[in-house]
Amino acid sequence: MTLILLNADVLVTMDAGRREIAGGALVAQGPAVEWVGATADLPVAYRRQIDEGRAQVLDMRGHVVIPGLVNTHHHMYQSLTRAVPAAQDAELFGWLTSLYMLWSHLTPEMIDISTRTAMAELMLSGCTTTSDHLYLYPNGARLDDSIAAAQAMGMRFHAARGSMSVGRSQGGLPPDAVVEDEAAILRDSQRLVEQYHDAQRHAMLRVVLAPCSPFSVSRELMRESALLARQYGVSLHTHLAENDNDIAYSREKFGLTPAQYAEDLGWIGHDVWHAHCVKLDEAGMALFARTGTGVAHCPCSNMRLASGIAPVRAMRDIGVKVGLGVDGSASNDGAHMLGEARQALLLQRVGYGPAAMSAREALEIATLGGASALNRDDIGALAPGMSADFVAFDMSDVGYAGAGHDPVAALVFCTPGKVSLSVIHGKVVVRDGELLTVELPRVLERHRALARTLYERARHGGA
Ligand SMILES: [Zn+2]
Repeated sequence: MTLILLNADVLVTMDAGRREIAGGALVAQGPAVEWVGATADLPVAYRRQIDEGRAQVLDMRGHVVIPGLVNTHHHMYQSLTRAVPAAQDAELFGWLTSLYMLWSHLTPEMIDISTRTAMAELMLSGCTTTSDHLYLYPNGARLDDSIAAAQAMGMRFHAARGSMSVGRSQGGLPPDAVVEDEAAILRDSQRLVEQYHDAQRHAMLRVVLAPCSPFSVSRELMRESALLARQYGVSLHTHLAENDNDIAYSREKFGLTPAQYAEDLGWIGHDVWHAHCVKLDEAGMALFARTGTGVAHCPCSNMRLASGIAPVRAMRDIGVKVGLGVDGSASNDGAHMLGEARQALLLQRVGYGPAAMSAREALEIATLGGASALNRDDIGALAPGMSADFVAFDMSDVGYAGAGHDPVAALVFCTPGKVSLSVIHGKVVVRDGELLTVELPRVLERHRALARTLYERARHGGA
């Protein structure tokens, strides 16, 4: 059935002209947008479909409609380990070492339920496409567990097959108990790509190869993963240049800056995006801009772990592709995509002054920026031929009171609200602020129980 959205106070298109249409309307046919314009200009054929009851109509009076937000970095299993006391006040390496053993008790059900929970939170905060970087597979857990959860939730998903292979005994950071054998990692990566990866336009599921970080895998695994990814035409993702200790590790172990290391391994290009890059140097930024290598900027996590301020202004000025990521729920305990856009704006201003980022640029990074980091040209904007992914915010919410002067900027400047409507792949997944694809209270109840179990197991049974 045709989906017709009418009467949006403003429809933000993020199209080539960055049009913001007052009294906006949009028509979706199946998974794609077919027409965008002012409600007054809605072609007569669509009006007839409405009159004859052949269209699903969404009246968005009082709402601002924007393209669905794109989250480029997450570790959804971490929603089970938020606000863990031992990890509240540490920087990256200390934070990781206090959590690794807790995570070693994860089970397949925990992956499934935490992914559903994290996706619910994202969907209600305006996100329609997300990546998830899963790099621990204890107790029979598989990436298939997150993929099944994404399919149940109805979310567009880039499932990143993470991995760790260099344990503490080999000079890596993670304990040996949570690392995998490299041959097994590559075999499983190939299986996942062959089983699930969809290269088509409007794909709901893509697979990404994603060894965790320079300090937890070998050079060989990085190189082999890049070769495998290129053989199948899938993207590559990892953590890079996150903080000063990360840089020191790279210089000490490899004698290279993180950007030089990435280049040496073949980890640059349009099909690669790196998380954080807080400490990417000028040469690294120039390399990324030249090669179309993307960055997932995670402002909340960078603040939480005191990693620093990523030079996003400088990156954007020279043409680096920058998307936004909420990062894992243990280093950003509030995974709100619109909130992340707000923090991106605020943090750039702390670092580089009030003109460093506007509200509209923050929204652009959260939509088009994310799409380009994920190497997609079918999401992030609302125009004919683009995927029908859009969300609506109710401007009568108390958080937006008095901000009618510029409702689009209000989305970023005001208290981040929840969506009242979300459409993904042409399907309504949130209506009147309620998730339709899953019974959220039941998922959350199970999530609470599993979070308790995980914590108790690690305290009593753990290493
Ligand atoms: Zn991360």
